[in-house]
Amino acid sequence: MRTMFRRAIIAAACITIAAAASAQSAFTVGGVTAQPGTTVYGELQLPARGTDAATIVPFSIVNGAKPGPVLALVAGTHGAEYPPILALQRLRASVDPKELSGTILMVHVANMPAFLGRAIYYTPGDHKNLNRVFPGKADGTISERIADAITREFIDRTQYLIDLHCGDANESLRPYLYWTINASPPLVESVRQLALAFGLDHVILDKARPTDPAASLYLENTAITRGKPAMTIESGAMGQSDEESIVRIERGVAGVLKHLKMRATGPDPLQHAVFLGRNQVITSGYTGIFYPLVERGHTIAQGAVIGRVTDFQGRVLEEVRAPFGGEILYVVGTPPVSKGEPLAFVAALATAAEIPKK
Ligand SMILES: [Zn+2]
Repeated sequence: MRTMFRRAIIAAACITIAAAASAQSAFTVGGVTAQPGTTVYGELQLPARGTDAATIVPFSIVNGAKPGPVLALVAGTHGAEYPPILALQRLRASVDPKELSGTILMVHVANMPAFLGRAIYYTPGDHKNLNRVFPGKADGTISERIADAITREFIDRTQYLIDLHCGDANESLRPYLYWTINASPPLVESVRQLALAFGLDHVILDKARPTDPAASLYLENTAITRGKPAMTIESGAMGQSDEESIVRIERGVAGVLKHLKMRATGPDPLQHAVFLGRNQVITSGYTGIFYPLVERGHTIAQGAVIGRVTDFQGRVLEEVRAPFGGEILYVVGTPPVSKGEPLAFVAALATAAEIPKK
């Protein structure tokens, strides 16, 4: 009798421990706490320092009622890329935390100085590209401090990450995503599944990302070098806020939520993607005026003229040619160009040998 009683106590204790392990807990970022089944808004505060004005990083925590993975969604790393920012506004309203398993961390505008300053590529203030200064520096310039805050508060706290981009306000871009393949095979496979779940059918095999976590450069790569499945997606272009580009991102996130079992319903993963291997950003050798001669999505032959750069009296300085045959994923669609800046991005179909095996 006594033994049975003791067994009953042990069994009850085990059930209590199991319940505690499977219960969802509160999630805190930057001093803001979301209880299970709630969505809360918060702002990371970056104080003024030197010549840099103070800024904020606005975020939401959508904390599901049930336990599950943590997924970070980041928009506005480049401040003039609007469909990702607007897609997160919609997702914040449409994802019901009571129906969610796990937690979504949404960074609504990573680079607020660039967003409010309507700036492409570079952060007003330090003229750095936020997506080249990760993991950042706590005592650095404004871009480096934003990167440091995002690394600590979001990347270090998440299990999965998607950095949401589009063509910058001067880039005419067709949708695609980057699949990092120079990482451990299980990580590479996890990202393949994330990519197919997101559903963009053009996938760049990215084998050139830095592998040092202390010099990760890119936001997404900061997660990868910390062992977390992550990818960068591109949907939208030319400073527009078009419905198609926004919906494509909403649908992609819905696919990932289903894939990660954070929500029961959602679109099925893509069965077949166009994998792109060799790829190159073609940069300008001159400062001047750019005249594109191709459009996004065009297939071009090796040596084909992509565009011309002229000086300010109209003399041709450079005829820009395709270094190899492939597809134009983006081409600059506005006239200004500075030496060393991108003009177009071309990528060729991957060979079977280039695509990582499952
Ligand atoms: Zn971008």
